[in-house]
Amino acid sequence: MKTILVITEHRRNELRPISLELITAAQDLRQAGDDKVVVAVIGNQAESYIPELSVQGVDEIIMIKDDTTEFDPDIYQATVSALIESQQPAVVLLPHSIDSLGYAATLVEKSNVGFATDVFQLEYDGDDLVATRAGYNQKVNVEIDFPNKDLVILTVRPGVYKPIEESATPVVSTQQAVSVESRSKNIQFVELASDGDVDITTSEFMMSIGRGIAEEDNVEQFRELAEMLGATLGCSRPIADAGWLPKSRQVGQSGKVVGACKLYLAMGISGSIQHMAGMKHVPTIVAVNTDPNASIFTIAKYGIVGDIFEVEEELRDLIG
Ligand SMILES: Cc1cc2nc3c(=O)[nH]c(=O)nc-3n(C[C@H](O)[C@H](O)[C@H](O)COP(=O)(O)OP(=O)(O)OC[C@H]3O[C@@H](n4cnc5c(N)ncnc54)[C@H](O)[C@@H]3O)c2cc1C
Repeated sequence: MKTILVITEHRRNELRPISLELITAAQDLRQAGDDKVVVAVIGNQAESYIPELSVQGVDEIIMIKDDTTEFDPDIYQATVSALIESQQPAVVLLPHSIDSLGYAATLVEKSNVGFATDVFQLEYDGDDLVATRAGYNQKVNVEIDFPNKDLVILTVRPGVYKPIEESATPVVSTQQAVSVESRSKNIQFVELASDGDVDITTSEFMMSIGRGIAEEDNVEQFRELAEMLGATLGCSRPIADAGWLPKSRQVGQSGKVVGACKLYLAMGISGSIQHMAGMKHVPTIVAVNTDPNASIFTIAKYGIVGDIFEVEEELRDLIG
């Protein structure tokens, strides 16, 4: 029997979606019938997240009450370390987020612990856990195994696992957070400036436009096409740099990784390394480009060597 420990995350009184995604990832790691998924929630209102976290596959929820209203890396570090001590899990799953980057690595203080970050695939090869993450600036996928490790700690990329919706009634227990003197002080919460635009990281179907659209006046027809197709409109960096679409729509290394995307339609995008960093993992990539040697075709499942304006018209005719 092994225990898979999930550390959830919340902000401003809202459970972050990755918390439920981690439960799905934990479920996938069950090998034997008596393997246990234990979910921990830390915070001064920990109890308010119990209904949302009570989904199928969760065996136990541990509520850990502390007095802080905002995330504190020292409290999480001490509390999760204590949980590891008491639960003796084989695997700990954390969100790959700005919060966990503040303490995850410090959990690996003991010897014989495996660690990998930004993991987007997990499976067992026999008894060996194999985690997949990107390497060499997203150019390759790297499979990491952890031979003979007692414990493996992983941060998991958001948007990869689908949350379980079926509710359940797991055992709920309560613990006090470990008392620690925090090295940081929360002064004020400042929300990252948002233009109120869609969050492209959660879209399952993206249509992105690149420099192939030639001029700003052409953006509108592709915006319309995206709407007709039910796709979220994204772009390469030159389009965002030119201000033709907001920066929040940029896919890539200095833009966003479209973690939840299943279908990516690249229109007039050459496929630079930096663009591919944000979408290379998508299972179905369709590329339209006039240049048969464009790099995007090396990762596309389906490619059309042709003019995006002609393809756009064809698609409109098909839908309309
Ligand atoms: C540090 C750094 C970070 C970066 N981060 C990012 C990032 O996050 N995201 C990003 O996208 N880029 C990023 N870049 C920029 C990146 O290097 C490329 O310059 C950029 O991705 C190119 O965008 P593009 O494919 O739209 O344009 P281009 O490379 O100019 O490609 C345009 C493509 O359109 C095709 N085309 C032209 N007309 C048509 C037509 N009518 N029909 C069909 N196809 C046509 C051409 O054949 C060409 O392949 C970054 C660069 C650096 C240095």
